[in-house]
This record gives sequence, C-alpha cells and structure tokens, in this order.
Amino acid sequence: MDYYSSHINRLIEQFARLPGIGAKSAQRLAFHVMNMPREQVQQLTDSILSARENVRYCKCCCTLTDREICPICANEKRDHSTIMVVENTRDLAAYEKTGKFNGVYHVLHGAISPMLGIGPDDIRLKELMHRLQETDVSEVIIATNSSLEGETTAMYLSKLIKPAGIRTTRIASGVPVGGDLEYIDEVTLLRALDGRVEL
Ligand code: ZN
Repeated sequence: MDYYSSHINRLIEQFARLPGIGAKSAQRLAFHVMNMPREQVQQLTDSILSARENVRYCKCCCTLTDREICPICANEKRDHSTIMVVENTRDLAAYEKTGKFNGVYHVLHGAISPMLGIGPDDIRLKELMHRLQETDVSEVIIATNSSLEGETTAMYLSKLIKPAGIRTTRIASGVPVGGDLEYIDEVTLLRALDGRVEL
C-alpha cells in the first residue's frame, strides 16, 4: 500500500510498533510529525535517544535511573530493611507519589506468565534474592498487580523468601483485580498497603 511516500510509510510502521498504538494512531502521529517544525522534531528524536542512552538500571533496586544508584536507594533516611517489590518503575512512581512509604523498592520489570512464556529468569528476581542475602531485611512487601501474572509472581516470591525467615506480606486486595497499580488512586494504594496480609 504505497499511497504515501515510502518515508512516511516507514515512520507509520515505526509508530505502529509502539505499545497501545494502532494503525490509525500511527498514521495520525506520522502526519503530525510532518507538520511539526524541524527543531521540534529534532528535540523529540534527541530526547528519545538520550533517554535510551543515559537511563540505566539502579544497581540496587533495578529501577530506571540516571545514576548508578537511584536517589531512593541512596537516601539514608529511608528504611532499607523494608523492601516493596513492584512490577515496574511506573508502579514505584505511583507509591512514591503518595509520599507515605518510607521503605525502599525492588523493581522486577515484569511478572511471571507461563502463558506468555515469561519465567522467573526473565524478570529481576535473581537480583532481589541476592539483595536479600547481602542486606538485613525485616520485611518484603509484595506489591505486584492483582492480575493472574501478578498473583503468580507473588506466590512464587513468597515461596522463595519465607524460608529465609523474612516477614513476607502482600498488599491487600483493595486493588481491583487486573488493575494496574499506576492507574489506582492514592487512597486505594495506601489502603492496600496498610491492609497488607502475611503470606
Ligand atoms: Zn535503587
């Protein structure tokens, strides 16, 4: 389908590869870019590249950060003996926004999903277990989503962590089933945290 220039077609293809962007949105974005001032296009491509090149995983909690150790892990005022395990950096941001959690995090970057072929080795689980061996941790709060994948991951984690004698809790199910943490309001997030249960 060569209705447009091959350059535009290529741009549409690239946009369509992004999550949540269908064929129509990809076209709309591509034509929008065509109408943008050249400097703005340059800024967009520069920021995409520089984010990709400069952002890395925190050596401690695996969240995305500009530094070797992220600001949360580097903060001595935080309670480093309480680790909240989340699926991604967006979930971490959701809890950070509440300003009520003073512990630290561990970001798995995914959840176990036998259906999608994502196993324990495909997420940042080894890093967590290593961390639990190295540091004195009194509680691990599992805050993965309440989707099937999130629950599977929570169960798997508790089986690994509990034998080590570390208190393992799961955030309460105030979080709707299948609900992504990042879309849930602060009150619900805090209620889920306060109402966490022992595993
Ligand atoms: Zn960190």
